[in-house]
Amino acid sequence: MKPRLLLASDNAKKRAELALLLAGRGVELLTPRDIGGLPAVDEDAPTFAGNAAKKARSAALATRQWCLADDSGLEVEALGGAPGVHSARYGGVHGDDAANNRKLLEALRTFGPKRRAARFVCALALARPDGEIALAIEGICLGRILEIARGTRDFGYDPLFLFTEAGFAQTGRGFAELEPAEKARVSHRGRAMALLLSRWPAELSAT
Ligand code: IMP
Repeated sequence: MKPRLLLASDNAKKRAELALLLAGRGVELLTPRDIGGLPAVDEDAPTFAGNAAKKARSAALATRQWCLADDSGLEVEALGGAPGVHSARYGGVHGDDAANNRKLLEALRTFGPKRRAARFVCALALARPDGEIALAIEGICLGRILEIARGTRDFGYDPLFLFTEAGFAQTGRGFAELEPAEKARVSHRGRAMALLLSRWPAELSAT
């Protein structure tokens, strides 16, 4: 029988990336809608890892299921790490990607390419049905913020993020220009998930 895993996120684009990364793992993925919604969580921890753990624990305690939470965002060096844990609401309204991107472009308006270094961070937390955190993992990927949006895949800050790590086929391309599988290979979320899968608990494996 396939074990069940709840993806504890209301962000459909994030869930789609997590589902792609978990394909073939032999788990039945549930969304918050499948179980009638999740209690709201105050994402007030100062770190991605802290917020991911809060979301995973809260969802597990509410549903008594294995739950996976992802807290992620963008850190821009010249902005002292902003938007950081406030990435989803940087522009003022939670989840308003267009407003977030506008504010980011404005904040960096006078900065040349060399001063636009940035990184994406993804913290994953996997909670057991009793709320205990079984695994907590972080992944990062490095790039810089573009002056003009590129690409058509419009998840979050992807249209403004240029992947710059040397030695990858994706180097020098915008995240919104990559196919989902290409992004998954180098992204903060893909890297965190690869580590998580390498430590995957036996209880969550198909029998
Ligand atoms: P969270 O749901 O509180 O973790 O918010 C994450 C926010 O960070 C999203 O709303 C996006 O703005 C941004 N973000 C996280 N991961 C990505 C990504 O892979 N691409 C683009 N933006 C991302």
